[in-house]
Amino acid sequence: MKFKRNLLILIKIILCLSLVVAVTGCLDNNTQDDSPDASPEFFDTSETPDNSGISDSPGTVVSPTPDPTPTPPPVNLVAWEGDVEHLFFHEVIAFPDIAFPNRTDPHRLDDYMVTVNEFNLILESLHRNGFIIVGMHDVWSEFTNVYGQQEMRRNTLMLPENRRPIILTFDDLTFHLEPYDAFMHRYIIGPDGEVWAEGVDRNGNPLISQDYTAITILDRFIRNHPDFSHNGARGGIAQTGLFGILGYQTQTNINIDTEEFRLNRMKEIARVRPVIERLNETGWYWASHSWGHIRFDASTLDQVIQDAERWENEVGSLVGRTTIMIYAHGGRLDGATGGDVWVDNVGPAARHYIDELGFRMFASVGPTPFVMIRQDVPAVMMDRMAVDGITLRNARDRFLRFYDAAEVFDPLRPHGEINWD
Ligand SMILES: [Zn+2]
Repeated sequence: MKFKRNLLILIKIILCLSLVVAVTGCLDNNTQDDSPDASPEFFDTSETPDNSGISDSPGTVVSPTPDPTPTPPPVNLVAWEGDVEHLFFHEVIAFPDIAFPNRTDPHRLDDYMVTVNEFNLILESLHRNGFIIVGMHDVWSEFTNVYGQQEMRRNTLMLPENRRPIILTFDDLTFHLEPYDAFMHRYIIGPDGEVWAEGVDRNGNPLISQDYTAITILDRFIRNHPDFSHNGARGGIAQTGLFGILGYQTQTNINIDTEEFRLNRMKEIARVRPVIERLNETGWYWASHSWGHIRFDASTLDQVIQDAERWENEVGSLVGRTTIMIYAHGGRLDGATGGDVWVDNVGPAARHYIDELGFRMFASVGPTPFVMIRQDVPAVMMDRMAVDGITLRNARDRFLRFYDAAEVFDPLRPHGEINWD
């Protein structure tokens, strides 16, 4: 049975998704031993992007390369009948040499992240393999059935010939991880009104760039390849609350109730608002990832309800209402994790999200593009496939229709086991 065959991989992925919480818990030391570089012939460094145009100079704002504005030839649109794929990422590692200073140490960033170079190569490969980004709201929508009840349905996607739909979502773009300078620090609005990111370069000097963060890299890729986006869709952002939003400290802290804290929080909220606004204008959309990155499959109804209130107050109030829940750790409201299994009983926690909060799309993590549209409640359940170090190292076959791990794997990653059959 397909599910059983995938179960071990799936369980490992789910267990290892405790990105925000587990500091050491998830690493499998057996797979992180100091083995020599696997098969150097796989690392074709000539394929890594040429960064010569990137300015690392202190404090400079790099003008974006003028985008070509090609006139697209007329395209035949055809109804897509197949699967809608769904990949997810975390924020990309800007500086692998800072993330992995000791190449022999196991490191959780290696498990959960891809590097800038890997992300660039993966986007190129997705585009080359005929994928086109679709937005979740274009794929499924709500309607009233003949009995007057709400249901979800899949819409007919009319896509250019020879294009296949894919959803891309991005989790935990919060810039709270260590080492802090291995990532950029926050998204900002540049003088041109577009989204940029600020951080520090390898010498600790201020750096403003669009070359080192997931959102800006995808933005640029779509500007240069407009045929990679259907209907203007970009990515979905799975947003928690506890570490703030996009690098801004917008969260409350139940242990701190000072005027200074409140004022600072208000400032941070004012700074993130224009970034959110620009993202909304450019086809990005938001999902709840729970406020506290909590496991819904291990939470009481009270905890689920309290977490939802806090998300609404601190995140929804800024990014707007969303009907999408992207489960932290993949742990579902019905008590299960991902995979093509389903619990018949829509429990009170799921009911709360569907009936009281208006959520309609629920995404977990699994090994396939599993989707199920429920008939009894207006909800669509789906799995996403994780693009990260674990799957790059261990699931090359399952991802070959997207990209070849052997071609995108960053040679700057720590040494460690690679299982490419
Ligand atoms: Zn997460």
